[in-house]
Amino acid sequence: MDQPQAMSRSWAKGSTREWRRRRALVLARDRGVCQLRIPGVCTTVATHVHHTQGRATTGDDIRYLVAACPACNLKVGDPTKTADPKPQPRTRW
Ligand SMILES: [Zn+2]
Repeated sequence: MDQPQAMSRSWAKGSTREWRRRRALVLARDRGVCQLRIPGVCTTVATHVHHTQGRATTGDDIRYLVAACPACNLKVGDPTKTADPKPQPRTRW
């Protein structure tokens, strides 16, 4: 048989509908409360989802996603962009 496989969906991974669904799942699981809770930064109300490990490693597995408020997500989201010499709150992976 040379029936075409249902069009590969890998191209859509990590974007749009599927990502929004996962994000909603994570926010619901964490009850919309920020899990990062960075002192002096956190606004508590999570509207973002943070990758606790590199997205390249885990994809969008929700076990590695946590609810995060925009402030915390921004703060820890991309350490390479932070000029702050503060020590990172996590150890090397
Ligand atoms: Zn926060």
